[in-house]
Amino acid sequence: MNVVLLGPPGAGKGTLAVQLAQSLGLLHLSTGDLLRDEVARGTPLGRQAEGYMKRGELVPDEVVLAMVKERVNGVRGVLLDGFPRTLAQARGLEAFLKVDKVVYLAISKEEVVRRLSSRRVCTRCGAVFNLVTQPPQQADRCDRCQGPLAVRPDDRPEVVARRYEVYERDSAPLVDYYRRQGLLVEVNAAQSPEAVGAQARAALSQ
Ligand code: AMP
Repeated sequence: MNVVLLGPPGAGKGTLAVQLAQSLGLLHLSTGDLLRDEVARGTPLGRQAEGYMKRGELVPDEVVLAMVKERVNGVRGVLLDGFPRTLAQARGLEAFLKVDKVVYLAISKEEVVRRLSSRRVCTRCGAVFNLVTQPPQQADRCDRCQGPLAVRPDDRPEVVARRYEVYERDSAPLVDYYRRQGLLVEVNAAQSPEAVGAQARAALSQ
């Protein structure tokens, strides 16, 4: 089964993806994580993507499509987190992967802004915390590896506002696109991670 997670930044796609990938035995592919890794390693792709990411803009479709295509080749079931983000990406994806279900994490803009401003990520292992909903045991230290926690550069308020605008303009139309194809499952994302996970699993098993 191939599943797409759709929703605005801060809806909880990453958290849900980790849960679902484990329970359904799917490969978790986060284009945001893959791009951040390319940036951290200073690869040509990373250097190309960095400016877009810093500004909260989307990396060009062909760059992201090529990256995903290479990774899903030969994989049996995949969970796509943060991809596709434009209609062009959705159409490009259809050429090499059949999407079986799309989980849409529905949430208000106010809640998203609140969550992103309290998100902290481990600069060593990438674990994600939230000072309000999933606080680390020690302030500014990762529970998993004790690495230092930091605010993601694109979680600064001015970039968050831009990312949300880009989501509404480029990605929100995908909700209707997949609904018309009968693939969409809508989940209320303004709940605890456990409740979101349970609702998503129940919807996917139908
Ligand atoms: P995310 O971690 O999913 O919020 O992604 C962080 C940033 O990576 C986004 O703001 C974009 O700049 C870039 N990015 C991630 N996925 C995509 C995608 N499917 N298409 C274009 N840009 C992307």
